[in-house]
Amino acid sequence: MPPAGAAGRAEQASILAEIVHARRTGPNVGQLISACEADDTLMKPGSETAANLREMRRDYDLATKLPGELVAELAKVGSQSQEVWKQAREKSDWQMFAPWLEKMLTLTKRKSECYGIAPGGEAYDNLIDEYEPGATASMIQATFTPLRSELSALLARVKESGTPPSEKPLKVKIEPAKQHTFGNFVMGACGFDTQAGRLDVTTHPFCSGIGPGDTRLTTRYREEKFTDALYGTMHEMGHGLYEQGLPKHNYFGEPRAGDISLGIHESQSRMWENFVGRSKPFWKWALPHAKKILGKQLGKYDAKDYFMAVNTSRPSLIRVEADEATYNLHVMVRFEIERALINGSMKVKDIPGEWNRRYQEYLGVAVPDERRGCLQDVHWSFGLIGYFPTYTLGNLYAAQFWERINSDLPDLQRDIAKGKFADLKQWLNEKVHKHGRRYRAGELCKRITGKELSAKPLLKHLTDRAELVYNL
Ligand SMILES: [Zn+2]
Repeated sequence: MPPAGAAGRAEQASILAEIVHARRTGPNVGQLISACEADDTLMKPGSETAANLREMRRDYDLATKLPGELVAELAKVGSQSQEVWKQAREKSDWQMFAPWLEKMLTLTKRKSECYGIAPGGEAYDNLIDEYEPGATASMIQATFTPLRSELSALLARVKESGTPPSEKPLKVKIEPAKQHTFGNFVMGACGFDTQAGRLDVTTHPFCSGIGPGDTRLTTRYREEKFTDALYGTMHEMGHGLYEQGLPKHNYFGEPRAGDISLGIHESQSRMWENFVGRSKPFWKWALPHAKKILGKQLGKYDAKDYFMAVNTSRPSLIRVEADEATYNLHVMVRFEIERALINGSMKVKDIPGEWNRRYQEYLGVAVPDERRGCLQDVHWSFGLIGYFPTYTLGNLYAAQFWERINSDLPDLQRDIAKGKFADLKQWLNEKVHKHGRRYRAGELCKRITGKELSAKPLLKHLTDRAELVYNL
């Protein structure tokens, strides 16, 4: 779409959203759901139909509990606040953004109150529940706290080792067209169906599961570092494989054809990006193809050089540029602050100080200004509060599933080194994708791995990698 079409498109989107909202929240929908719930044959415990109705009830209740006036206000103030945030970040001016964040917080707290706080719960639970149904702040805290202290300890070991791998293999210039061919080649090998999806270029990479048979992925290319696009593409491809694996052809529009949660969605992208794409077997397979498609410049290096280079770990200021090991510490800073803001134990004016103190303590870096500190993310400006933890939940679920996959598929590592990904994709289709929203994330995790979500598998994965790469 040309840029000048954006305003007209926004108008259309808002009218459609209003019509859809009105139909979804109509009293007849509530009556129909109630009638189904009263029918024992539909509500057999554990059945697919009962799960489908449970999720329809959830969607209906969530949509009807918020007054239309509040929804409109959140949308309006959110888009104004986002504009202010852009300028404030540019100027690194916290004072400029603070009153707008204050407004967004007030509205977001009102939203949480409308949902009603569960006994023993807290206001923040309702916000995270929008993105990760069933998750609570205390459950997240219980998993994040051991992860945080052990990650900080691992980073300290890495820092002391003093032998960072060479990043030279990444610094070869490769034109975007070749990178695009290579990205498509990798996607094809992993099993992404290009008859039911495609890869294009944008400024902000994303995946959109538009409908049955149509999953769109985007990426961006930097000539001077081809692995940025490679991993961006593999990340979105993981989201895309999930979208393609959902039973949309039969049940499009019903919960049973929808994704469970942002955390589970992210587990799929992080698995392909990090557990597959940054592994040694992957480079063993991919490098000869990369040399053919991307060019002879790669010829000086071997698979081990690439494995080492793409797993360099370094504490940094910016979340979106963080490596696999440090990324979760960035997320925890945000989780702790937003939880305290919603529960009233922190004030907006205290954010910069609290942010900087945590970056020093968890990552060992000094924040030089607010642009590279608490103003870096767009999320809070338009009310995405409760969203950040799902990034780390995705890593945790990916690691726990990965352990199970490798015990179910003992040849997987050898298969990856030969470019054989079919069994892995099949496993994900069967265990995760095809169920849609039948199980909540925590329940799915227990069904697949036999255990509650824990920080241990991720810590083990990150420690094993760091020991290999840094010779610890
Ligand atoms: Zn993602």
